[in-house]
Amino acid sequence: MTFTRRQAILGAAIAQLGAAAALAPTAQAAPKPVKAKDAKPSPVSSDPDVIILGAGISGLGAASLLEEQGAKVLILEARKRVGGRIFTLLDQPGTPEMGFNSMGAGYGRGMDMARRAGVELHDVAPRYMKDPRQQFVLGGVTLTREEWAASPKNPFPAALKSMMPWEIVPVLVSKNNRLKDWADWIAPESAPLDISMHQYLSQLGLSDAAIRLAFDKAPYYGLNGHQSSALVYEFNDGWGKAQSAAGPGSFAVKGGNLLLPQGLAAKQKGDILLGKEVVAISSGPDAAVVTCRDGSTYRAKKVICSLPFSVLRNISFEPGFTGPQAKAVTSLPYQPISIAFLTVSAPYWEKDGLPPTMWTDGPLGQVLAQRYGPTPDEVTGLSVFARGELALAWDRLGKENTLAMIVSELERLRPAAKGLVKGAYYHSWGLEPFNGGDWSYFNPGQITAFAREMSTPVGRVHFCGEHTGTSNRGLESALESAERVALEILSA
Ligand SMILES: Cc1cc2nc3c(=O)[nH]c(=O)nc-3n(C[C@H](O)[C@H](O)[C@H](O)COP(=O)(O)OP(=O)(O)OC[C@H]3O[C@@H](n4cnc5c(N)ncnc54)[C@H](O)[C@@H]3O)c2cc1C
Repeated sequence: MTFTRRQAILGAAIAQLGAAAALAPTAQAAPKPVKAKDAKPSPVSSDPDVIILGAGISGLGAASLLEEQGAKVLILEARKRVGGRIFTLLDQPGTPEMGFNSMGAGYGRGMDMARRAGVELHDVAPRYMKDPRQQFVLGGVTLTREEWAASPKNPFPAALKSMMPWEIVPVLVSKNNRLKDWADWIAPESAPLDISMHQYLSQLGLSDAAIRLAFDKAPYYGLNGHQSSALVYEFNDGWGKAQSAAGPGSFAVKGGNLLLPQGLAAKQKGDILLGKEVVAISSGPDAAVVTCRDGSTYRAKKVICSLPFSVLRNISFEPGFTGPQAKAVTSLPYQPISIAFLTVSAPYWEKDGLPPTMWTDGPLGQVLAQRYGPTPDEVTGLSVFARGELALAWDRLGKENTLAMIVSELERLRPAAKGLVKGAYYHSWGLEPFNGGDWSYFNPGQITAFAREMSTPVGRVHFCGEHTGTSNRGLESALESAERVALEILSA
């Protein structure tokens, strides 16, 4: 079976199903969470055909595809829950998302998995679009767009002065994307483009001060522009445009995205063993053996490893990795991001007339109004984000201190909020032992050094996970890798 590149990018599944069928609710009750089935060694009656390490969306997606083809699959998951980076706070108002948020109209595989899981997708774009304005706070002072354009502190070139700092990088990349075909980001010919974002933005006329404000304050990849390859941004830009071309809308699971992996897990025929932290993987002449921290071992002809490289690098792996792949496993970086969820007891923004959503260059980071009530008019809480250096600073401060700092900063900048906001939850993806960051990124030069070799099978072990997708980003990248790895196993 072969896929055209267009199918690889927009999802082979959507071509088969049709977007409408994929989006249609399947009228099932929300699936029940999977319970830890076992704490004892080797409970399975006979060896499975395939052991999948990790019950995130890529592991569950690969399992669903393989079981459909008749394979006997066992999943080992370190956490006491499925979903990995899909993580919804189901007990907080509006069921806020701490991980995966939404999928574009071109997420054919994501939509197919929603259908398989029996969950309903709904368009959340109208909820995002309720907050077109955000409060801009620089050095503790609120500025309107007009005040910012005229401010002596504005470090941007004349043509960009009336743009807000967070608007600038996407616009510059969109206008100056050097990739003729964005899907070639990984091709050897693109190596000369594998430079830092700092260098790229400097070449486009931004000063160091401008780069600090437009990029380093809240980077999606890297702690600052020196650490992040510009090629990834250009790939993102091209891929994002392909998503927009597939149609409008932004889709999330009704009731919370966590219902998607839970629904897939409930449909799984084979066992999913929770609390099984894998510490060693070895390939022998007859079988692969997986060892867990509790001493249990599992054998199969094939293993699929979906673990982030930030975790895999600390696991015993025989035979070892070699060449560019070894470099990738040991050095692929993961982005620090920390998120606080605040509850709000009254709409203080109606008193002070400012938008609830905020972008600050200070310790508060970015505040995003959550609108997950029956209508988008209702604000169900505030998610506050720190990325890069600020996420590390929050983590050093600790959960309780950070929540207290966020509330006091918010009250200082918005006196009308006094007594009305409360820190309810803190989640650091950087401190999560089974992730070590929210997503992988590439330092300058790393795409050229190893991106094409990252998912090469080693012994009896095959690899999937968002970091190994090459034609998509985020959840769709994880599912693209699930499809590839299932095909590798089936054609082996
Ligand atoms: C804050 C945030 C927002 C996001 N927003 C979006 C978005 O809007 N759109 C989008 O497309 N994508 C988004 N993503 C990305 C998307 O969530 C991920 O790409 C996707 O969920 C990754 O799936 P995965 O299976 O590759 O990895 P994971 O979900 O990390 O799965 C790996 C699994 O392996 C398990 N594991 C780790 N170590 C071990 C071990 N030693 N033994 C056994 N099991 C182990 C983990 O517990 C985990 O369950 C977001 C991610 C984050 C963090």
